[in-house]
Amino acid sequence: MSNLHTHTIYCDGKNTVEENIKSAADKGLISIGFSGHSHFYKDKTSMTEEGTLKYIEDVNKNKYIYKDKIQVYLGIEGDYYSNLNKDTDKEMGLDYRIGSVHYIDDGNNSYFPIDMSRESFNNAVKYFGGIKEVVCRYYDNVIKMIETQKPDIIGHLDLVRKYNLNKEYFTEEEDWYISKIDEVLNIIKKNKCLVELNTKLMNKNNLDAHYPNKYTIKKLLEIDADFIINTDAHWSDNVDHFYIEAVNELKNIGVKYIKILIDNTFKSIEI
Ligand SMILES: [Zn+2]
Ligand SMILES: [Zn+2]
Repeated sequence: MSNLHTHTIYCDGKNTVEENIKSAADKGLISIGFSGHSHFYKDKTSMTEEGTLKYIEDVNKNKYIYKDKIQVYLGIEGDYYSNLNKDTDKEMGLDYRIGSVHYIDDGNNSYFPIDMSRESFNNAVKYFGGIKEVVCRYYDNVIKMIETQKPDIIGHLDLVRKYNLNKEYFTEEEDWYISKIDEVLNIIKKNKCLVELNTKLMNKNNLDAHYPNKYTIKKLLEIDADFIINTDAHWSDNVDHFYIEAVNELKNIGVKYIKILIDNTFKSIEI
């Protein structure tokens, strides 16, 4: 196991860098990466600018301290509106960057969170005049993020489904949705970024609650996309959250290899 999507007290995580590393080592992970929320002035739970520097220092310090126990990597979860890119990655000395969309905007400096609460999601649906507009704006941001910011990994690709797990807003099988997904897939294919299977919402009663959904995983498989399994842990106990179940899910869908960050390289391993 390996997990590159973890949050700490520097953003909205509940545990320290060190607590996460210890938990990961105890659970037998071969590597752990940190992905604090990049600073975005509209997002109170993202890292402050000053906190980001402390975070980088803390992860790098512990990378060295625990080097004989587990491989530790410095990453960031770059929100689309933080405008990170390969140059800023270098400046920060990052090992990798997860690119994520958490907001959409109206072009007039109003930002709407996609995953904060059902209430705020409903506000966006109301403001933009329907679910379709919100979903399409979300994926347009994903596309722009991939094209302009070139992340190593795409975080929770279809986060916009968060409040649609019981199909409350749309079936996810409608033509407009499928063709929007196709648009995103074309960009992924062209840019060859890794796609994360994010296990954050998975639970015993709903093993299907992963991002992206089964259909999109199948389509990603058809374009030979590379997968990486991440738990998006906000507690140190969640560094392996439903990891094994996620491996089985990918296997059942027909995925044969996943990528793991090991010895500073993304390596393919057979599952
Ligand atoms: Zn995220
Ligand atoms: Zn996250």
